[in-house]
Amino acid sequence: MKLTFMGTAGARFMVAKQFLASGGLFLEEGGTRLCMDPGPGAVVQYAKRKVDASRLDGILISHRHLDHCGDVNVMIEAMTEGGFRPRGTLFCPSDALDSDPVVLQYLRGFPRELVRLEPATGYQLGEISFRTSPRHPHGAETYGFIFGDGKLGWVTDSGYYEGIAEDHRAEVLIIHTVLMDCRPELPHLCIADAERIIREVKPRLAVLTHFGMTVWRAHPWEVAEALAQRTGIEVKAARDGMTLEV
Ligand SMILES: [Zn+2]
Repeated sequence: MKLTFMGTAGARFMVAKQFLASGGLFLEEGGTRLCMDPGPGAVVQYAKRKVDASRLDGILISHRHLDHCGDVNVMIEAMTEGGFRPRGTLFCPSDALDSDPVVLQYLRGFPRELVRLEPATGYQLGEISFRTSPRHPHGAETYGFIFGDGKLGWVTDSGYYEGIAEDHRAEVLIIHTVLMDCRPELPHLCIADAERIIREVKPRLAVLTHFGMTVWRAHPWEVAEALAQRTGIEVKAARDGMTLEV
């Protein structure tokens, strides 16, 4: 399984400034290719990194906030060559299609299949298997994921809740850390939350990404190094374009 960070920016200020890219994650297993959370500029990042979007097998949206789905429509068109070659599956929470939809009506017939994600449910796309977490406490309908039966866990945007570590338990754990310091009024993870999750899961490797402005200003690589020192577990800060073999 190979994961590429098409962007590491999180939340509205970092995305608006584009200090970091906001293209989400790209996952490959065998011959199966999945575009995940294509935020604003994802189509640019895929082109820049020479990933042929017309060979994608699917697009997965964790939730309908703009930094996770800003480019979903153009990625659907890219995957299906403008709709002339229907292919692939779009996986997303139902509110991305139903209430205040982010997927345009005119291109909903371009993917071969639209799948409304359900909590704690398993899915298969070619060689990629994944399972959703229970619904995250976060504004929109949001799910985290475990891929490959515990190989890779993805803690996308969420407020901290009891059980968040168990719901994403995996050998390699990706954690969205928008906040440097905890702000209980905001449904986002801070660095102390990430530390609790890492201590509980004890992954082989934890990777921080989706940095908000406060984490960016604190230098994510230094934040990750300090976390590694405190926990004794390997912790990295993702960089735009970084790839991980899982
Ligand atoms: Zn969000």
